[in-house]
Amino acid sequence: MQRQKVLINGERLKDTLEKFADFGRTEKNGVTRLTLSEEDRLARDYFCECCKELGMSVKVDDMGSIYATLEGVDNTKPPVVMGSHIDSVKKGGRFDGILGVLAGLEIVRTLVENNIKPQIPITIVNVTNEEGARFEPSMMASGVLSGKFNKEEMLKKKDVDGITFEEALNAIGYAGEEANRLKEATAFLELHIEQGPILEREQLTIGVVECVLGMVCYDIEVYGESDHAGTTPMNMRRDALFAANNLIQEARQKLAALDEDLVYTMGRMNVWPNIHTVIPNKVVFSLEARHKNPETIKQVEQIIQELTESAANEGCEIKATKLWSRDTVWFDEEVCNAVEESTKSLGYSYKRMVSGAGHDAQFLQSYIPSAMVFVPSINGKSHDEDELTTWEDCEKGVNVVLETALAIANK
Ligand SMILES: [Zn+2]
Repeated sequence: MQRQKVLINGERLKDTLEKFADFGRTEKNGVTRLTLSEEDRLARDYFCECCKELGMSVKVDDMGSIYATLEGVDNTKPPVVMGSHIDSVKKGGRFDGILGVLAGLEIVRTLVENNIKPQIPITIVNVTNEEGARFEPSMMASGVLSGKFNKEEMLKKKDVDGITFEEALNAIGYAGEEANRLKEATAFLELHIEQGPILEREQLTIGVVECVLGMVCYDIEVYGESDHAGTTPMNMRRDALFAANNLIQEARQKLAALDEDLVYTMGRMNVWPNIHTVIPNKVVFSLEARHKNPETIKQVEQIIQELTESAANEGCEIKATKLWSRDTVWFDEEVCNAVEESTKSLGYSYKRMVSGAGHDAQFLQSYIPSAMVFVPSINGKSHDEDELTTWEDCEKGVNVVLETALAIANK
């Protein structure tokens, strides 16, 4: 039987997004809503109030994540879960994270006002501390949910003022029960802004996210010799910074030849002794690379090994140390297909794409069939007050999640 399509209320979604931006709105129309802060508490309280008004039951788990559930026809089945995070970075935007949570709220509002009872329950989740901006690491609560992080260790994490996560959680009144954790679900859907320029550049509305890119991160250490900058002839130097410069050139050349989708960054560099009259004797820089194919990542590691034997070493010793790596996380094929079908049925333009940034969904995917939906970020900007997604694109993204959720719930 063909289901009657329902669409969300774009105007109400906009109003709700703006209302939540008031919880921590900055002078330049961005948002500072660090996890477990007063702004976070106010946003959480209001979110819970809105959910209760809709007749949803609200639970909080031991990491402070909130689950609001709308009953379905058959409540013995695990829910379709949708959501993201309410917290933001310092001077972040009005869309990152909160869009995925408010998508859930707008969807339930739409269902309730149209008297549509889903076949199975629908749960909206706000996952605590996705950003890791106040308490590291990021994706903390989803890491605990999926068994990647140890809860006791996480509770002891401190912010810059020495306040622990546990103290902050208690202070805002959101320390709940471990029994309330998300244990099973029929599917998890996370709507998020792209945080990159691709959809906008290709003038597409929806990104069906297939995976979160695997990555590898190395420290490259270069050891030379310190001497007087004025008295040492150029041909008698072992300048660690000159060597590092050569290595970066060499790495760029080789990495660029690997695959056009490979992204790589040397984002951190320290120079010793960092004095203008002294030849640098030590340089350490990071090299991270991301790609969906593990073979390509292996080739990157091969190139990094080659750097340690580079002929352009200026007489310096070079050491490469792997700091960490993570495998590409592929989202559930069926859920991805459901998102694609819904997008097509709504007539929106789309593409299948990858996420270069990490998200809670990548941890949840380890035990819940998950997928992500991206909407365009204007100028690719995020984690910035200029972060922007058009209201129309927000609305379309939420419609895709609604359509997908109903398709999965009614299957
Ligand atoms: Zn986010």
